[in-house]
Amino acid sequence: MRTSQYLLATQKETPAEAEVISHQLMLRAGMVRKLASGLYNWLPTGLRVVNKVAAIVRDEMNKAGAIEVSMPVVQPADLWVESGRWEDYGPELLRVKDRHQRDFVLGPTHEEVITNLVKNEVSSYKQLPLNLYQIQTKFRDEVRPRFGIMRSREFIMKDAYSFHIDAQSLDDTYQIMHQAYCNIFERIGLAYRPVIADSGSIGGAVSHEFHVLADSGEDDIAHSDNSDYAANVELAEALAVGEEQTPSETLEVIDTPNLKTINALVEARGLDIKKSVKTLIVKADEHSEHEFIALILRGDHSLNEIKAEKLALVASPLQMADETAVKATLGCGFGSLGPVKLDMPIIVDRSAERVVDFVCGANTDEQHYTGANWQRDVGEYEVADLRNVVAGDPSPDGKGSLSISKGIEVGHIFQLGDKYSKAMNCGVLTESGKHDVLQMGCYGIGVTRIVAAAIEQNNDKFGIIWPESIAPFSVVIIPMNMHKSHRIMEAAENLYKQLQDAGIEVLFDDRKERPGVMFNDMELIGIPNSIVIGERNLDNQQVEFKNRKSGEKTLLTISEVLNHIQ
Ligand code: ATP
Ligand code: MG
Ligand code: MG
Ligand code: MG
Repeated sequence: MRTSQYLLATQKETPAEAEVISHQLMLRAGMVRKLASGLYNWLPTGLRVVNKVAAIVRDEMNKAGAIEVSMPVVQPADLWVESGRWEDYGPELLRVKDRHQRDFVLGPTHEEVITNLVKNEVSSYKQLPLNLYQIQTKFRDEVRPRFGIMRSREFIMKDAYSFHIDAQSLDDTYQIMHQAYCNIFERIGLAYRPVIADSGSIGGAVSHEFHVLADSGEDDIAHSDNSDYAANVELAEALAVGEEQTPSETLEVIDTPNLKTINALVEARGLDIKKSVKTLIVKADEHSEHEFIALILRGDHSLNEIKAEKLALVASPLQMADETAVKATLGCGFGSLGPVKLDMPIIVDRSAERVVDFVCGANTDEQHYTGANWQRDVGEYEVADLRNVVAGDPSPDGKGSLSISKGIEVGHIFQLGDKYSKAMNCGVLTESGKHDVLQMGCYGIGVTRIVAAAIEQNNDKFGIIWPESIAPFSVVIIPMNMHKSHRIMEAAENLYKQLQDAGIEVLFDDRKERPGVMFNDMELIGIPNSIVIGERNLDNQQVEFKNRKSGEKTLLTISEVLNHIQ
């Protein structure tokens, strides 16, 4: 690409309306222009970066076994009425009418549309699991659009939705997608952190967010200085809200609890287990407890109705002395359940008899827990109560203490369970010929937000420093006073052709500008490598190769340049 034929659109002044560095630099580097509040034009340089991010996301989705589709931005309101979100979603949902006065929405997310699609296209368990994704424009009427495209009203999201016959299959895909997200952020080259999240209005139980740690982030992340533990402090609010809304009934289940006894009890007491039970106390004997807990934690279909907020275990201490033992017991009873999912906080009755240092079952083959005792050990997915947490508090996993950092949420994955499939009656015929609603997962990533987050982490006083993976161009050729020197023009044109032929994304600054102007612009845009062609070095058949990040300059012959870049 020649700058003379391109829309570079750089600007010197820092725009007054831009609060954060990424927004300032995106405007100055000519990446975006505001059209209206929360609505941005993507200029050529910006769009190249968006496309790079999208390509990495697409590649990792395909590798994870997800299949690309495309759904309309405009969605009929009927589907939202069916799911219940026409009522629940609030003013972020932009509602519009067509010429026949029929209601539509501009899609802020696509659970409804995909559930409707899968309901119509998939009829047998043999077609599952299925994971579908799109990379597409979303609209949310944000109450406070800000930070440029970081919190805009129209933005690009990759959203994936997976469909399963049971919770185990959902969990398998969830783990694959979790890994795919890690791969994406690693490939882009961002410092990121997966954190335990509140599943919010989308519903469901297990949820992780992926955060890029940066001071401009709007979320508070509590993370251990000595383990992988990290959680969004938003959870605290979620817990507080949950407490207000959940009724206070306590359900005690005594003796060999199983689904039947629980159902019988619920019925006898005229309770709605979802609406009225806050705490479920299990007084189990050692024969039944691990089976029961395993069913709950596994999200066994028939037990999904059990949404008790707390699960208290007053159990035979040998099996249930603490969280470690719960996990161990699971491993013992159900062999290959994989990482244990805790849907609710587990409260252990610590007055029960103490047992220390016992060996218990394996979560993975040959991986026995030893030394299980009263030591608190919070499961990977356990939701800790982070209300009033301050830096220095002990980490809920018992390892190290907590630091609080600002994070930018760039990705979010959920195990939705049957929230949408049930409301919209999306099911299949199972192997036994019965009709079952599907288990669903959903997985979002903010493609355009990643662009801003990457800049927040990679800049200096001269401008953006793109990670190579998403740079708009790999290299820029900056010829000095080319329009006065035939020799320089020839060398620049030749090099430009060679680099293009080698498939390298090269920008050729062939403007009639002073070298200083070119240097400043290219540093501002943040192209990782530049090649400066000047008279003196050409005498030795050399050019100057400069790395944007390190500032390192190397003299290379033209043939060496190609090897240096590839
Ligand atoms: P936030 O907490 O920042 O409002 P969210 O939790 O509402 O985000 P999700 O519904 O989880 O967002 O959507 C998935 C991803 O889409 C987010 O992780 C984020 O990267 C991106 N995203 C959400 N809202 C916006 C927005 N207004 N502008 C740009 N990207 C967004
Ligand atoms: Mg939001
Ligand atoms: Mg959020
Ligand atoms: Mg989110």
